[in-house]
This record gives sequence, C-alpha cells and structure tokens, in this order.
Amino acid sequence: HPVVLRHPAEVRIDLDAIAANVGELRRRAGAADLMAVVKADAYGHGLVPSARAALAGGAGWLGVAQLQEALALRAAGITAPVLSWLHAPGMDFAPALTAGIDLAASAPWTLDAVLEAARATGETARVHLKVDTGLGRNGAFLADAGARHTDWQILVDHARRLEAEGAVRVVGIFTHFAYADAPGHPTVRHQQEAFADAVAIAERAGLTPEVRHMSNSAATLTTPESAWDLVRPGLSVYGLSPAPEIGTPEQLGLVPAMTAVARAAVVKRVPGGQGVSYGHTYTTPGPTTLVDIPLGYADGVPRHASNRASVLVEGERRRIAGRVCMDQFVVDVGDLPVRAGDEVVLFGPGTAGEPTAQDWAESVGTINYEIVTRFGPRVPRVYV
Ligand code: PLP
Repeated sequence: HPVVLRHPAEVRIDLDAIAANVGELRRRAGAADLMAVVKADAYGHGLVPSARAALAGGAGWLGVAQLQEALALRAAGITAPVLSWLHAPGMDFAPALTAGIDLAASAPWTLDAVLEAARATGETARVHLKVDTGLGRNGAFLADAGARHTDWQILVDHARRLEAEGAVRVVGIFTHFAYADAPGHPTVRHQQEAFADAVAIAERAGLTPEVRHMSNSAATLTTPESAWDLVRPGLSVYGLSPAPEIGTPEQLGLVPAMTAVARAAVVKRVPGGQGVSYGHTYTTPGPTTLVDIPLGYADGVPRHASNRASVLVEGERRRIAGRVCMDQFVVDVGDLPVRAGDEVVLFGPGTAGEPTAQDWAESVGTINYEIVTRFGPRVPRVYV
C-alpha cells in the first residue's frame, strides 16, 4: 500500500470549495458585502487557511466569537476587517484596538471597557451594537418598538455619549435570527421588522452605522431582503446547508469543504457471536471481518455514533459496530476485502458514496454544525 497519510486520520479541507461557496453566497446577497464567520477554528476547518480562502472568494469581512480568534487572524497577517462579538467583563480590549479589530457591544459595560482601552491606546474603538430582536440570547433587548428606556435605547444613548467624546465610533448595528432555518416562521418577519425599528431608534439618536447586518447562512439563503449592508454566513461558507428543508448543498450551489478520513489500523476475521468494543453492545451475526479505525471521541467522533453512524469502506457504507472509544472505533465490514492501511471515509461531500456531515448529524441526533466543529487538535487539517 502506498502510504498517503502521515497520521492515523486527517480532515481534508477543500479551500477552493470555501472560496467558491463565498462567491455563491455573495451572488445571493446582491449588493451586500459578506462577513465570513470563521469562529471555532472556522467551524473546524482551520482558522487561517479558511479565512484566507474566504477572502479570496470575495468576503470583505471576517467574523469571530472570541477576541483570541480575531488576534490570531491578525497575527497571521490578515488585514481585512474583523468583528469579534462575544466578551466577558474583565477583558482587556487594548490589544484588540491596537490590532484594529471591531468589537461588538451588547451592554453598556462593554462600551465602558472599550472606552478605557481606547483612552489607553489612543485608538478610536470601532463598535457594532448588538440588538436582541427576539433570539433571547445576547444583544440589548429591544422590547416593544418605540418604547423608551429599553435596554436597546439605553445602549444607544450610552454609545452616542461616548461617540461625542471621540474615542468610540459606532460603525455597525446587528442582530441574529432565532428561526432563520425554518423559512416562513413568524419570528423571522418579526425580527426583520424589529431590526428596522432598532436601526431607526439608533439613527434617530444620531448614530450613523455603516454596516447594518442580521443574516446568518439560513437567512442569506432564504430571505434576501434581510441582507441590509452585510450578510454574516458561517456554515454555508463551508458548503453545508443549515437545514434539510432549505435544501441540500448541491441544490443550494454549495460544495462541502470537509472530508474526514482514517486508515484501517487493524483488520481481523472473527467468528459469529463475538461481542465488539466496551460493553459488547454489538455482536457479530456470523463470521465476519472487523476493522479498527483509529479515531475516537477524544478526536471528536461522538460516542453517540456507536452502532449508529456509517463510514465508507471499499466503496460501501458500513455502520460503526459497538461503542466508540476514546481513540478508536470498530466497523463490521462483512466479507469486504479490506486491508490494514486502507482509507475509510467518515463523511465528505457525498460524491463518492460516502456519508455526509448531515447524515452523521441525523444518525447521532445532532446538527451538522456540531459534527464538523468537533474534531480536536490530534486530527490534522490537510488542505487540498
Ligand atoms: N452571526 C452570529 C452572531 C453567529 O453567532 C453566527 C453563528 O452562530 C453566525 C452569524 C453564523 O451562523 P451560521 O453558521 O448559521 O451561518
């Protein structure tokens, strides 16, 4: 066997697919710019190479949850606008301002901390105010349109005061959908209207945001009227569909970028009646070949995939036999002529018959987002 992998398993990332997906999403977004969301190591695809591919594909912005992710982009020499949106009290924003990173603020404390950092560094802080139009997560709560002294009004007024001092500039206003993956859900319309109200409140208070943004992947794909100045897709950048009801990647013109592969480590013939893996939750129905795959839950293969998810081996799909262990799992391949060292595909775009991340998600009872973001640091990302 030619040795292809240097590791027992690897995740292959098709960077051209990421660039092409961004091109397709931009086309759908009309005149709006596109912020490629690259948080969580670019949904498991590798932060810096994925960010570069997204920029090459036409993204004008990058979005991350945590400041350390934004700083890692800058450390890699990426100069595109970056928004970082999830902070906790006590964080020092000075490095962010020095690195020219835009910061989200959901609450006045963030604005105060940002102001302090702006004074310390002499930089003008670029802030995007986050409004909660109904997700009920972060963001300043809007409540009834037009009501005074809501969290949103308080945040806006506070931002306006700091802007007047000159150290803070509100460049953006944004919100996030609760149900964009359920097209036609009444909250989608409600949040669209609430966002327009929130923008109006901010503009009436004297703020002049350049980018107003609300669309995740699902909204980018299904409600072009939500695009405003900027769309903010994550999952679809990596070629996955946010929900089967919205379409398959192929129907949406997207190409899944991740293929997870491993090499058969141990192959053996066993008789019928052999229990497999901890607890013997699987028993061979007759004489068969068991293949040991060197990937486990420590690498991100969900333990819940035990006896549920399938892999592609010798061109055929075969289910995981018995429990997924920390570092390995077993597949019963029957009489398939598998040899140690053969490549096994956990999931990929599906074009060669392999399961997709969506198939894995359905087997395991989760979402494709979780399947791709779970791979740990032991599994190298290889760029193709
Ligand atoms: N915007 C924000 C604020 C997010 O938290 C996320 C991801 O959860 C996204 C955009 C991208 O969402 P999606 O991956 O569904 O496109």
